[in-house]
Amino acid sequence: MEFWNLSLPAPLALAVVATLGYLMGRRTRSADHDLVARSRRELRRAKSVARELEKIAGMVRRNLARHHTSLSRFKQRVGQLSHQQQDAAWKDLCREASEILTPTLRLATQIANAYDQIRQQTNHLMTFTEIRTDPLTGISNRRALDDAMASQLAMFNRYDTRFSVAIFDIDHFKRVNDEQGHLQGDQMLQRLARLLDESVRETDVLVRYGGEEFVVVMPQTSIEGACVFAERLRGKVEREMEITVSGGVAEALDGDTAESLMSRADTALYSAKGAGRNTIHRHTGDHAEPMLEVASV
Ligand code: GH3
Ligand code: MG
Ligand code: MG
Repeated sequence: MEFWNLSLPAPLALAVVATLGYLMGRRTRSADHDLVARSRRELRRAKSVARELEKIAGMVRRNLARHHTSLSRFKQRVGQLSHQQQDAAWKDLCREASEILTPTLRLATQIANAYDQIRQQTNHLMTFTEIRTDPLTGISNRRALDDAMASQLAMFNRYDTRFSVAIFDIDHFKRVNDEQGHLQGDQMLQRLARLLDESVRETDVLVRYGGEEFVVVMPQTSIEGACVFAERLRGKVEREMEITVSGGVAEALDGDTAESLMSRADTALYSAKGAGRNTIHRHTGDHAEPMLEVASV
């Protein structure tokens, strides 16, 4: 069946279904107070919107190809007719031309409608990205951390794949603001974010956790590995910037939630602060302690 014979044009129908699904999902989620579950659902929804967009694009492409074929056929007929100059054939040709014109107009309308729907969906997807990005540094924010933690914990519980987190906090950052001004402080945060971004693996998730606190989620990484990374970063900051950072490291343990794991990393961070700053401490699951010397090798 030609797609323009359907009561609702196929690309438009697909776009409407995708948009309705997306909007309905957005409305129902207001009753849901679980941020992590909500973020994960949002991600699934975004993926399904992307799939729908792919379908729409494919459909439009196929129908355009089909349309192009019928136009080529028409052009060929015109070529033949000009040699024959038969009256009846000319009439046939006129009828055929108007038959082609109708679906052409319909196709143009459908493409315009599909374009509107795609633009609407793209806006939704952009909002999805925007609300997960920290505007000052351009790296991910806490919302993205919730997503990463939820998926890493799910992997840990199902497949026993270990992962660790590190939290970094700038030492005496209030002084930077007081002595050099807030703008300079902001630039320092941007530089630190860049340095962190260059230092993490592409599978790691880097997040601005709070004002001058950054978190790195490290999949498939033991606490020892995470300490090596944290210590390397601490040294790099000390060498390359005018500030220092302290860090706390923890690895996911059985029964952990995102909160319990972050809380251990936080305890280790404050232990590092208490030990004089510009150092990394780790949490064993029982207590916080300075990281092992092995990291400096
Ligand atoms: P500590 O070594 O104990 O961490 O000392 P600190 O001075 O860093 O103390 P704390 O972590 O409590 O203070 C964080 C400061 O970071 C407070 C605030 O002035 C500053 N800050 C938070 N967000 C921003 C920001 O977006 N821009 C700037 N310029 N400063 C910020
Ligand atoms: Mg702080
Ligand atoms: Mg600080």
